[in-house]
Amino acid sequence: MQPYHWPTRTQPYTALGITRLPCCHCGARAGAQARCCADGSYRPYCLECHNRFVDELLAFLGLPDDPPGRVKPYADYGVYRAPCVRCGARSRYQWRLGQAYRTVCPDCDLALNDLTLHHLRHPHAAGLLAAYRERIEDERHDVPAAALRRTAA
Ligand SMILES: [Zn+2]
Ligand SMILES: [Zn+2]
Repeated sequence: MQPYHWPTRTQPYTALGITRLPCCHCGARAGAQARCCADGSYRPYCLECHNRFVDELLAFLGLPDDPPGRVKPYADYGVYRAPCVRCGARSRYQWRLGQAYRTVCPDCDLALNDLTLHHLRHPHAAGLLAAYRERIEDERHDVPAAALRRTAA
């Protein structure tokens, strides 16, 4: 396999544009895309690798059957009110995985990013993850007062 050229595109590809690119995982023709949270770029994927990738992340969250859930993104306060699907802690982030949005706490979010960077075979996985970890630590305790009021109800 040729060394993969990492685009740094921060806008989603069009449905047609994506098919002109090789899958970042196996080099086959892409048909899907995934956004890397750590550097904000979109990565082309073939459907097979993309499905396998989603299955892996769902299994990590303890949702191997891709159960139904919210099909629209949670509002900010809604994310805080929902427990982390993996460990039950207060959620802070949401991921669209399988057929629904899943809410996760900072630690589980970091673990998902770690899995994602390795799955993407990102050449700078370690550095990106370290930078992302710092960002999460900065945000960890900064829960909006309105969200706390709502969760207390
Ligand atoms: Zn592939
Ligand atoms: Zn968690």
